[in-house]
Amino acid sequence: MSVVTRFAPSPTGSLHIGGARTALFNFMFARHHGGRYLLRIEDTDKKRSNMKIVDDILNGLDWLGLKGDADPIFQHKQINRHVEVAHQLLQKDKAYYCYCSPNELKLMRENARAEGRQPRYDSSWRNRKLSLNAPQVGIKPVIRIKAPLSGETTIVDAVRGAVTVMNSQLDDMIILRADGTPTYMHSVVVDDHDIGVTHVIRGEDHLNNTFRQAIIYQAMGWKLPTFAHIPLIYGSDGSKLSKRHGALDISIYRKMGYLPEALNNYLLRLGWSYGNEEIISHDKAIELFNLSGIGRSPSRFDFAKLENINGHYIRKGDNNQLTDMVLANLRSDANNLDLKDSIKLRIYLGMNGLKTRARTINELSNNARFYAANLPLSFDEKARHLLDNCEADIFSRLAQKLTELSSFQESDIKDAICIFAKNNALKLNQVTQPLRAAVTGSVNSPSIFEILSILGKKESIRRIDAVFSIKRTRLPK
Ligand code: GLU
Repeated sequence: MSVVTRFAPSPTGSLHIGGARTALFNFMFARHHGGRYLLRIEDTDKKRSNMKIVDDILNGLDWLGLKGDADPIFQHKQINRHVEVAHQLLQKDKAYYCYCSPNELKLMRENARAEGRQPRYDSSWRNRKLSLNAPQVGIKPVIRIKAPLSGETTIVDAVRGAVTVMNSQLDDMIILRADGTPTYMHSVVVDDHDIGVTHVIRGEDHLNNTFRQAIIYQAMGWKLPTFAHIPLIYGSDGSKLSKRHGALDISIYRKMGYLPEALNNYLLRLGWSYGNEEIISHDKAIELFNLSGIGRSPSRFDFAKLENINGHYIRKGDNNQLTDMVLANLRSDANNLDLKDSIKLRIYLGMNGLKTRARTINELSNNARFYAANLPLSFDEKARHLLDNCEADIFSRLAQKLTELSSFQESDIKDAICIFAKNNALKLNQVTQPLRAAVTGSVNSPSIFEILSILGKKESIRRIDAVFSIKRTRLPK
């Protein structure tokens, strides 16, 4: 049997962390078994579905590398087939027309409530033989499935194990509405059957639906797929996941500077484990993924962990690609920046130093900003304080020494600055910290020797001069 999985979002809201994780698990499971992973847009609820949201969902999946193995299936296009199956169920005597009026249904619900029972349909039309045009009723019928009347139904869920419900809890649900449109519960089963889904991996909030969907599978004589219901994701404090906890659109994670491979790694580990390993590459995940590794208890979303994993993927990232991402970011806020090709080269050359210090692409871009900054630089508070309290003369003399260097390699610069510090009875960081502040505008940066060499002699001296000659009057804000 070749494995077929699917991710089936309803386009009533954008792609969130929970949906992305469901998609990822379906993707990984299919890849692990060399099977197929499909996408289905469950848009039969036309009023609540929205094409812009469909695009956002598909873009989010693309960005995560979770595109389906075929074009997405749009559920509304399969409606004729859903209707056909509903009529087959009628013919098999597994379903029936129900002519209950809205008033009768209301009464049924009220009675049930008054008697402390679950409000459910009482199957009154189950055994009445009436033709579709029954004159005495005068209302359009719905089609209801015949649910089992007694006994119990057990689903052996790949995550939860055997789960049993009493059949008395399942009523004869509607599969085709009076206006001829199929219900969600019915469409899902027909579509999953028709595309040959072997494993339904989805959120635990759908577990109850499974028992109802099983009735349709059984009535049609179709084999049930294996179900795996994934526990929900909670906030870091154990409460329901909210925006504050990270229940954000996938596109927002992208804007915040997370890498898709990091988000995938994090989501993979959020509910699935392989020993204690936190970092699991894409290929390794495909090799290892199984349903037995999915935990039964809810996971907690933890931003700090996601940041750590993101930092790992940034450090491992390709310098060319990282440079492109940084440039794209800086371009969107190019205030007082020079972004021509020579600047791109500076950022590329500085990338090894920069990437060890950043946990998001946004942080990386901010840290790289000084390479592209035009003069006058802007200085953060600490840098300004430091520069306001150091002697300009010393740095004017140091600038002179650096100007005289015949080679401006990192090691030459380092040697010259060490000697200069020693000759002036200064500790090395009494020289390097003000220098760093003058050249980058901050007291935190990669190695100052590396930075000076990447900026080159002319630009380095320009920046040192700009600070220490102006400083005698006032430092630019
Ligand atoms: N469309 C459903 C949702 O977005 C998923 C249905 C399913 O996976 O069976 O929650």
